[in-house]
Amino acid sequence: MTTPKKVLKIYNPGSTHWVGDGFHVRNLFPSNGIGDELSPFLMLDYAGPTRVKPSPNPRGVGEHPHRGFETVTIAYQGAVEHRDSAGHSGTIYPGDVQWMTAASGVVHEEMHEHEFARKGGTFEMIQLWVNLPKAHKMSRPRYQTLAKANIPSVQLGSAGYARVIAGELGGAKGPAQTYTPVNVFDVRLKADNHTELTLPAGQNAAVVLLKGNIIVNSGEQLQGEAKIALLSPEGEHVTFDVKEDSILLILSGEPIHEPVFSYGPFVMNTREEILEAVADYQAGKMGHLEAKVAQ
Ligand code: MN
Repeated sequence: MTTPKKVLKIYNPGSTHWVGDGFHVRNLFPSNGIGDELSPFLMLDYAGPTRVKPSPNPRGVGEHPHRGFETVTIAYQGAVEHRDSAGHSGTIYPGDVQWMTAASGVVHEEMHEHEFARKGGTFEMIQLWVNLPKAHKMSRPRYQTLAKANIPSVQLGSAGYARVIAGELGGAKGPAQTYTPVNVFDVRLKADNHTELTLPAGQNAAVVLLKGNIIVNSGEQLQGEAKIALLSPEGEHVTFDVKEDSILLILSGEPIHEPVFSYGPFVMNTREEILEAVADYQAGKMGHLEAKVAQ
């Protein structure tokens, strides 16, 4: 028998705000007070689900920099186009994930995909920020498109399934290459079932409920939308009694025991490194996006 990870606390979203003019998000951390106890995860914005009106001009967030961490975008509904100053670009659709390592610095833009913008529709995404250890904060930027077809799905008995985006579950390995051990699982569960997932002891962990109704570890109820249960690093599994069909994002990761100094789009270890990041960005050292060719 393994011991369950304890539910430390259930949180509601903190701030609700717009990112650019394209992404109306509920912030699931850190604006609600969850901080170091979820290292290496820094931030999670849940965009939508929201109805986007048809528009000839895609909405989104224009040219902006990042340094010192990774941005992970998970598409549930709608589509997002991305391009950055390292020359990477891509479009993600429902089920796809984009794992961008900003590391030493990129400038990028994140927009509704033009065809989705033109037609309009329901939009739903998550953006998760994953910290990098000091040794990799100034590594080369990297870009991974994790297509739906390449994300393995693990059956959870009759309860549903877990898509393994990063890490490992039940022998299935996620396609994301990461700098520290992390698990990111997209979990879909059906009402009136019970299931259990293993999560490594010593890793910080959380269960994000996008929508649904579940009892975690026979005790705490997560119900409604956009709730998060912070779990203890101790313990090796989590159980769910599923009351209504539910969509969950399960996160766990080995904590990075280093100072975190963040300022807007930069997450470094010291104030001096932040000042350097601002200066490097202003001096154009993180590059620029090429002008869009008129079509
Ligand atoms: Mn960004």
